[in-house]
Amino acid sequence: MEIIHEPSVIQRRCESIRCGGATIGLVPTMGCLHEGHLSLMRRARVENDVLVVSIFVNPTQFGQGEDFDSYPRDLQGDLVRLEGVGADVVFAPRAESIYPKRYGTFVEVAEITEWLCGASRPGHFRGVATVVAKLFNLMKPHRAYFGQKDYQQTVVVRRLVADLNFDLTIAVLPTVREPDGLAMSSRNARLTPDERRMAAVLYRSLRHSEERIKGGERQATIILDEMRAMIEAQPLAQIDYVALCDSETLKAVDRIEGPTLAAVAVKFGATRLIDNILIPTP
Ligand code: AMP
Repeated sequence: MEIIHEPSVIQRRCESIRCGGATIGLVPTMGCLHEGHLSLMRRARVENDVLVVSIFVNPTQFGQGEDFDSYPRDLQGDLVRLEGVGADVVFAPRAESIYPKRYGTFVEVAEITEWLCGASRPGHFRGVATVVAKLFNLMKPHRAYFGQKDYQQTVVVRRLVADLNFDLTIAVLPTVREPDGLAMSSRNARLTPDERRMAAVLYRSLRHSEERIKGGERQATIILDEMRAMIEAQPLAQIDYVALCDSETLKAVDRIEGPTLAAVAVKFGATRLIDNILIPTP
């Protein structure tokens, strides 16, 4: 397994891989890898000749007062896990080589970034779109893999690829969960035992919305109130948002008529967790 830190080096390495006729699968991550990340890598491993994984805690997608400094990092442990899934190339750049002095270009995806996590984290998706565009330009992968856990991010990345004519396929894979339903996340490690126990309410509230819709309820406000009540019953939970949206436009819906995204963002102390499920047309 090769470990590369410099953008110019990864660019040359990937170019020579492509020139040799091999396909490249890219899994972009912020590291502190868990089974959710590894599921993307295992899929990328079988669908491509070469598996490239990036590990980069991207400063531009963190707002002021967010957890950039305290975001969990474990490069040595990650390298062991990457060996285990058979990664070929690891790209782990320093922030200064991705954003050198006088860096001045950012990618803004309009509209779909304005609500949900975009509303609570202004500038977050600008940072995501910028770094993803840079990774695509550096590696020019044939396929790139993302998790449904960050559903809005997958919509933003698909929009970016279509709008800027990136020549690659985006694959979105299901959310990997703990036995109690909590979506795996690098941030889970920062929950206290009480917070960790209460955090299972995110998935329970999402499942509740699915059951209500399957049972015939069509009024979003009724379902949202019930979800909020479930979450608020956990004393350490602070709701950021609870939403039922059109799964394509991500706009909030009043009545459930088509495929719906149920999405939640909840803070436990300093740790903000997100989760979602897709509910097919009732
Ligand atoms: P992150 O390191 O949090 O930026 O995540 C890197 C990639 O892994 C993103 O595409 C995430 O959506 C994906 N991912 C994170 N957690 C999970 C999970 N529990 N299941 C599936 N994919 C995940």
